[in-house]
Amino acid sequence: MFIDKIEIYVKAGNGGNGVVSFRREKYVANGGPDGGDGGNGGNIIFQIDEGANTLLAFRYKRKFVAEHGGNGEGGKRHGKNGADTVILVPRGTIIREAGSGRILHDMSDGAPYVVCRGGRGGWGNKHFATATRQVPRFAKDGLAGEEKTLLLELKMIADVGLVGLPSAGKSSLLATVSAARPKIAEYHFTTLEPSLGVVDLGEERGFVMADIPGLIEGAAEGAGLGHDFLRHIERCRLLLQVVDVSGLEGRLPTDDFNTIAGELEEFSQELAERPRIVAANKCDLLPDGTDTPEIAALRTLTDAMGYPLVCISTATGSGIRELLHLIDQTLATLPPIAVYAPDAVPEEVENADEDPRDTIVYRGDDGAYVCEGKWLKRLCGRVYFDDRESLMYFQRSLNNAGVIDKLREAGCEEGDTVRIFDIEFDFMD
Ligand code: GDP
Ligand code: MG
Repeated sequence: MFIDKIEIYVKAGNGGNGVVSFRREKYVANGGPDGGDGGNGGNIIFQIDEGANTLLAFRYKRKFVAEHGGNGEGGKRHGKNGADTVILVPRGTIIREAGSGRILHDMSDGAPYVVCRGGRGGWGNKHFATATRQVPRFAKDGLAGEEKTLLLELKMIADVGLVGLPSAGKSSLLATVSAARPKIAEYHFTTLEPSLGVVDLGEERGFVMADIPGLIEGAAEGAGLGHDFLRHIERCRLLLQVVDVSGLEGRLPTDDFNTIAGELEEFSQELAERPRIVAANKCDLLPDGTDTPEIAALRTLTDAMGYPLVCISTATGSGIRELLHLIDQTLATLPPIAVYAPDAVPEEVENADEDPRDTIVYRGDDGAYVCEGKWLKRLCGRVYFDDRESLMYFQRSLNNAGVIDKLREAGCEEGDTVRIFDIEFDFMD
């Protein structure tokens, strides 16, 4: 079973709650506030697993959650930060948002990627003592961690992608030129897992070759395996089309060539136009050497299309050196492997229903002035209490958006309590 596309659910940890507590000591009559902050929730992080080349591991585990932050405690004790959850994926995994299909990240380089951030921990009331102006006194509740449904899709990273009918000798070729040990089959039973091999040409030259599961006729229309697998070679810089020219199967090499060429075209015009080299394989089985009418016909065809043709045998090794040299030379002229850029966040759509003017202010049961609104909610989620800059930004934003004016209009005066979602502060005019 080979899995190269799968939907998973991820959720970062929630922030722990801040605590409201007052110091109690034997000989101190009125202790000050000493409630500690909640810990931050753990993040969900993707990392490359160099050993993996399928998403099979996700077949049985599709839900990943990170640890919640611990609650704060009295005595100014900070809650424990939640541990991150690391998800390992093969290199070349594309992470998309399931609903929109938007690309979030391409796991092609080695860097870890944080897909969901843990919620920030709530603020304990120990901060009360240092409050000035419109600065939150405490934000009791931790914020929820982000959650997402993701679509993981594997698009392998290789310079050269092997294509060809089952049994053409693709796996044999990869095994001959690299340390990879793909399954080599006697039958038209085709490779079910892609495998990658590093071809080492010495003197720091070399390239990565990918053997993908075999194409079968009609595959591009969804009749067989091919369609699913073709996306693995979508970002190869060069295609190496392997054709069995032995004639042992009673087929013409030109027909086999055209079958695969057709499949590629069906799947994607862009892929069909990718630079290509043709390897005529199993030449050891030709009694008269490579000087046969069938090979001549194939050469006429590939010449017309502008593809170089090399006669090889993975069994005897003939032609292999020449082929590798040609691949190396060709790659030197081609652009690097495509890395998919993240799709831009459609800013207007995301913020369409957020307007600072929609903020409402009312008097809560406890006498506090309560402010609500979608725009405000997002603003609050972005405030970092430990960071002075962030607090200034918060204050400025409230001012610019007219929230402070609205509070005044509602009758809020110096020293009154203002509550904005999880944030509370004293109004200072
Ligand atoms: P794939 O389906 O394209 O990966 O083909 P395989 O590499 O599995 O090879 C299919 C069969 O062809 C196996 O039995 C191989 O041993 C055989 N084969 C591959 N290359 C050659 C070759 O150059 N000469 C001969 N005689 N047989 C070969
Ligand atoms: Mg194979």
